[in-house]
Parts: sequence; C-alpha cells; structure tokens
Amino acid sequence: MTRPRGRDFAVVLAALVALASSGCAATAVTAPSAPEAAATAPTATDGAAAQEEATLAALRARPPEVIDARTRPEPHPVIPIGTKLTAYIGPRFLTGEEFVPEARVVVADESGRVRALLRALPNPNPYTTVTLPGALAVAGLHDAHLHIEGIGMARENLDATTSRSAADLKKAVQAFAGAHPALSVIRGRGWDQSRYPKQAFPTWQDLEGATTKPLLLTRVDGHAVVVNKVLLDAAGITAATPDPAGGRILRDKAGAPTGVLVDNAIDLLTPHLPKATAADHERWLGAGLVACADAGLVAVHDMGMSLDAFRVLQTMAARGPLPVRTFVYLDGSDDAAYDVLGSVTATDTLALMGVKIYADGALGSRGAALLADYSDEPGHKGLLLMEPAQIEKRIVQAHAKGFQVAVHAIGDRANRIVIELLEKHQRQDIRDRLEHAQVLAVEDMARLYGPRITASMQPTHATSDMRWAEARLGKARLPGAYAWKRLWDSGTAVAFGSDAPVEDVRPAWGIYAAITRQDHDGQPSGGFTPDERLTLDQTLRAFSRHAAWAVNLERHAGALTPGMFFDVSVFDIDAAAQPPAAWLKARPVGTVVGGLLRLSPSSSSPAVSPASP
Ligand SMILES: [Zn+2]
Repeated sequence: MTRPRGRDFAVVLAALVALASSGCAATAVTAPSAPEAAATAPTATDGAAAQEEATLAALRARPPEVIDARTRPEPHPVIPIGTKLTAYIGPRFLTGEEFVPEARVVVADESGRVRALLRALPNPNPYTTVTLPGALAVAGLHDAHLHIEGIGMARENLDATTSRSAADLKKAVQAFAGAHPALSVIRGRGWDQSRYPKQAFPTWQDLEGATTKPLLLTRVDGHAVVVNKVLLDAAGITAATPDPAGGRILRDKAGAPTGVLVDNAIDLLTPHLPKATAADHERWLGAGLVACADAGLVAVHDMGMSLDAFRVLQTMAARGPLPVRTFVYLDGSDDAAYDVLGSVTATDTLALMGVKIYADGALGSRGAALLADYSDEPGHKGLLLMEPAQIEKRIVQAHAKGFQVAVHAIGDRANRIVIELLEKHQRQDIRDRLEHAQVLAVEDMARLYGPRITASMQPTHATSDMRWAEARLGKARLPGAYAWKRLWDSGTAVAFGSDAPVEDVRPAWGIYAAITRQDHDGQPSGGFTPDERLTLDQTLRAFSRHAAWAVNLERHAGALTPGMFFDVSVFDIDAAAQPPAAWLKARPVGTVVGGLLRLSPSSSSPAVSPASP
C-alpha cells in the first residue's frame, strides 16, 4: 500500500498531537492569538518542529510513488499528476495570501506543496505543465462544520425539503414508501413547519395512512422529528411519558403526544430502530465524502461522528486517500470517545481532532437556550441539553488528552455558559470551538479572542433563518444574531461551513450568503442586518485559512503560499470578478488536494504538456 502524497499531513498532525499532549505549552508554542497573527508568524522554534522538518526531509528524499487509482472508494477519476515540479495554469488563482493575492501559474512539487506563484509561464518552460479546467481557482475551501454520514444518508432517504404542508409531507411519504418496498423503516429529512400554513408542526394524525411501517421524519435542523403512530406505539410514548432532561415531547391540549419529539426526546426512539451496520456506515460515509468533493471542498470538519462510523472511516482511509481531508470530532456524549483520543494515528487525509458536544438545541424548534424569553413564546427560554457541570466535565476530559472541544451553542444563554467554561479552562496549546455561535449577547462578542475560541459559523443558516429570526428573538437581540462581522472585528477566528445536510453543502452558496445576507432571489434588498456582511476576501478566508487554523493547520493549509499544501477549489466561471449572484451559478469543476487532481463528474480531463527541452 503506497500513500505518498499528503503523507506530510499525517506527520504534521502527529507532531501537533504530540505537541499538544506533551502539555509543555508555555515553552513550546509560538501561540498566535488569532489566525491573522498566525499567518505572519509561521515558524515554531521548538523541538517538535525540528523533528517535523527532519521527517519531511526524509519523505522528500524518497522516490515518488504512484498511487493506484483503483483502490479509491469513489467512482470519479483521481489523477496523480506531477512527479517533479509541475506548473498549473488555466484558471485565475486567488491565493488568499496578502502579498501575492493573485497568480496565473502555481508551481507545486511532488509532495503536493506550492513552490512558486507566477504571473506567466517562463520561456523556456522547465515545468511539466497542467492546464486545469475552469476559470477561477481559490485557495482550498474547507467546510468547518458538517455531518458526512447525514449527507450520505439524505441521498437514500426521503427528501422532505420541498414540502409546504403536512399534506405534502404525507403524499411524499406515500410515494417514497411505495417506491422502496424493501425498507423496514421509512426515513426522511428536511421538513420545516415554518414553511407550512400557520407554521403548524406536522402530527402523527397528519401522516396516518401514508405507510404501515415505522416512519421517522427529521426536521431540517436535525433537532426535532415527527413519527407516525406505529413508531410512537413501538417506543411506548404516551401522555404518561415525562419529557426527558433536555428534551420535549410536543403534546395536544389533552396532553397526548402529537408525534413531534424535540432534542433529547428523540433518543427515546433509538432502542426501537434497527442499528446501523458497518456496511451502512461505509455507504453513507462514502456517498457523503464524494458529495463534499463534488461540491468543491478540499477539507471537511465532521461534527459529532459516532465511534462506529469513525472505525469504518479509518478502514476506508487505510485503503487510500479520502476524497477530501477529513477532520473528525467524535460524539462527545459517548464516554468511550475519550478513550480513543490520542490512540489514533492520522493518515494522509484523516485526523481525529477532538469531541463535539451539545449545549442547547436549535432556534427553529425553540430549543436554543436564551437568556430571556422567546419573543414568540412568552415563558419559554429554550433548553440546555447538558447541564453546565456536565459540559465542564467533558471539556476537562478532552483537554486531559490534549484535544479540542467543539461545543454546539445557539442561544445567548448557551453561548455565555460555554464561553465562561472555555475561558476558565483555556489552554495555549488547544483551540476550542464554539459551533454556530448563532445568537450572542453583544457584550459577549469580544470574549472569544482571549481564550482563542474559533467561532464556527454557517452563513446559510442566517439566510434560511432570517424569515423568522426576528419573530423568535425580537429586534433588540438581532444585533447579536449571525453576527460574523462583529466577531471578526473582535479578532476572533471566524470559520465557515454549511452544517450539511441541514443546509446545502455547496460552499459557493455559503460564499453568496456571507457577502449578501440575501436569499437566492436577492431578498431582502440590501441584505438581512446588512452590517454583518463580509467582503469576498474575508469570506474566502473564513472558508480556508481560518478553518485551517481551527484544526491547527494554518502553517500548511488555507492559502497558496510557497511551502503550503497545493489545495485549490476550481470553479467554471470567475465569480469573483462578477456580481455576487454569480456564486449561485458557479459550478465546481474539480479540486486539487495536496497535488492530487480530482475532477467533478462532468468535467473534462486537463491538458498535460511536458517541459520544453
Ligand atoms: Zn451540525
């Protein structure tokens, strides 16, 4: 098994992990406080860095090896290109680097690292030259928060995103169940009662007659489900069932369950559903990773993977590079996850970064924990899914192994609790993360910078939620909602993602949302709380360098700078030179990850010409 390219990635990560677990923070790390600082202070002078250099040098000295494309799990072509210095031309390259923001030629070496940025090919041309398809190549885009399995699973379950009423939903279930007679459980995802008449949640009564099998339909945000009577009965959920801690069973006036279960109440179903097999995990992970690469991503941060899925992903990565660099945060509600931290060696494209836990629910289902009442539900402040003491215990557990904690926090109360705990337990060698950081008290905005907390945010959440965000929060809380610009201006590392399958995985759509804060029809004109728009340059950084910073890789990934990975996302049109709506039309034509070109399914092969004699 040969896996040469990107091997340095594993080495780098191993070095970082060793560094982190050594606990010698004060002497070992140059400790930049924000990604901008990190970008200008790329050298560490400690022993680990020297060791890393030596290992890289040894690897560079080895003869180039050829990767066997047949071992890859994905169906699309992956072409190993360039064994010596290779010049890439074709699209305009946006480097994400301050001093040379643009290039027409990128020269990369056999280890998949950038060696030079040029305005034109030299004459005579000493390089093997590869003409990439497409018009624009940006420094490789990460998605800092998504769910690979969820993306893959959504592809084989009912897609309920287009339903506009409970009757629509029932019709869709009927059609789907009829077309998939072999399924023992009918699953779907994507309904959103805020798009239904009177914004009424669907009920089990609405779904009666759609199928005789257990039916489980997940809300678009993943924080609520509606089930049919069959499943409700199988799980024994009745008027007498109490709401579990951190969960809610929606009930009618008589107290009987309506079929909607929110947050931790969803766990009541788990024992009554078939357990996923290793083959299920592999199918979902494989389909999810391919979808990410096809969307133009070079790296993804998976938030809350089960141990079972992670074990399968490890076997997949051992067979050959994954289609995207994959950074995993295990489901931190599982005690066993903490035993695994530190025992896993990173491969070319797979690294374990830490754990993900949930502080609260989501705003759409009023599960986010707010400091004051919901504006559209007086007396209700939302739910904490974990008590602060429990959150603290998890932070301490992960830090003890030298690993990060990524905490889901949507409401201003949840965010404050988490920020305070991360302040208390901050370490110079660990960059913890606030996932979503969706609604913050304005006075809490500046508190992320000191403890080096990444604000991992999703531009498309703002443009999906803007239809009802003000109803939930009221005008006074809006300035702290989806406030990327305020957080950015406070010096915080803002890393962008999609939370797919909650939102579409396409980073181009996230870029559009971040620079416009408008929906795809250009509404509202001027944008939702438009002061929070970012520039295109800032947005691309949030999707690349800041995301790389969040996984300790800013010295190696996130910009096209000599010495860094040659990772790019290539698009068919130069949307950066056009009005923002061009990002909605921009089609990803391929990615290069560490010098491995991976074309999207419909793209043509690149022209390769040898060096001139
Ligand atoms: Zn998520």
